[in-house]
Amino acid sequence: MAKNYLLKLTGVIGLPVDGNPTVAMQEAAFAANNLPWRYITMQVVPQDLQAALLGLRALNFSGINLTMPHKVAAVSYMDEIAPSAKIIGAINTVVIEESRMIGYNTDGQGFVNGMKEAGVSLAGKRLVVLGAGGAARAICVECALAGAAEILIINRDEKRGNAVAKLVQDNTPCVSSYIHWQGTASIPDCDILINATSVGIAADTDAPDICYSDIHKGMVVQDIITRERTLFMQKAEQMGAKAFSGLGMLVHQGAIGFKLWTGEDASLDAMYQALLHA
Ligand code: NDP
Repeated sequence: MAKNYLLKLTGVIGLPVDGNPTVAMQEAAFAANNLPWRYITMQVVPQDLQAALLGLRALNFSGINLTMPHKVAAVSYMDEIAPSAKIIGAINTVVIEESRMIGYNTDGQGFVNGMKEAGVSLAGKRLVVLGAGGAARAICVECALAGAAEILIINRDEKRGNAVAKLVQDNTPCVSSYIHWQGTASIPDCDILINATSVGIAADTDAPDICYSDIHKGMVVQDIITRERTLFMQKAEQMGAKAFSGLGMLVHQGAIGFKLWTGEDASLDAMYQALLHA
C-alpha cells in the first residue's frame, strides 16, 4: 500500500487568537480516534476575512472555527447557514464540503449538551442570563429551543439586552424579557443562573456585580468562563447552589464541530484532559 502523506486540515481563525486553547483539545480528540487530522491556530485581521476563507477552501481545509471578531462577519460568506445559526446571526464553525461552505453555531448547543452532561434539564425552567454578547445570544436561543420556559436577560447595555430578549421572544416559544443592570444587580428567583458576561476571564478575583444573597440552595449556577473554579462559582456555592464551569460548554461545542468535520464521536475525556493540561 502506498503511503498517504496528505493530512485533513482544520483550525481556528481570530484576532487575538494566540491564547485560544482549542488546538490542544481538538488535536487530542483526533489522536484519540487515530485520525490523520490537524488543527492550526491562525491570526486573521478583519479586512482579510474573505480572502482567508477563500484560501482555506483553496487549500482543501475540511473546516474551520471562527472566533472574535469574525463570528458575525463570516455569515455573509457562507453558501449555507444552519437554522439556529441563522436565528443567532453568528457562526463559529464552518464545514467545507465539495467547495461549499456551511456555517454552524455550536456555542449554544455546546452549552445545552454541557448542562445535559451535568444532569441538568432545561425543559420548563426559568433562566436568568447575565450578559447579552455573542455567547449569551447563542446560549439563550439554544436554551429556548431546548424547552426553557422563560429567560430573563440582565445586561448593562440596554440595546444589546433588549435585542437578545426580542430574538428569543420572536423566534422560539420561550418567554423572554430584559432587565437593566445598574450597580449591584438583584437576581430574580430562577432555576438556573448563567454568567454569560466576560467578567472573570482576566482574573480569579473578578466576579459579576450581583446580589449573591439572592442565590439559594436548589438553584443551578453556570459560568461560561472556562477556569475550573471561578470566583462566581465559589460565591454561588457558598450560598448552597450547585455550580459548574464553562469547560463543559467548551468541550461540547468542540465535540459538535469534531463530529461535523470527521463524522465520528469525539472522546470527551481526551478533550477535558487536554484542556486541563493546556
Ligand atoms: P461579548 O464581548 O460579545 O459580550 C460580553 C458581555 O459581557 C456583554 O454583554 C457585556 O455587557 C458583558 N460585560 C462585560 N464586562 C462586564 C461587566 N464588568 N459587568 C457586567 N457585564 C459585563 O463576548 P462573548 O459573548 O463572545 O463572550 C463572553 C465570555 O464568554 C468571554 O469571556 C468568552 O471567553 C466566554 N465564552 C466561553 C465559551 C465556552 O465555550 N465556555 C464560548 C464562547 C465564549 P455590555 O453589553 O453591557 O457591554
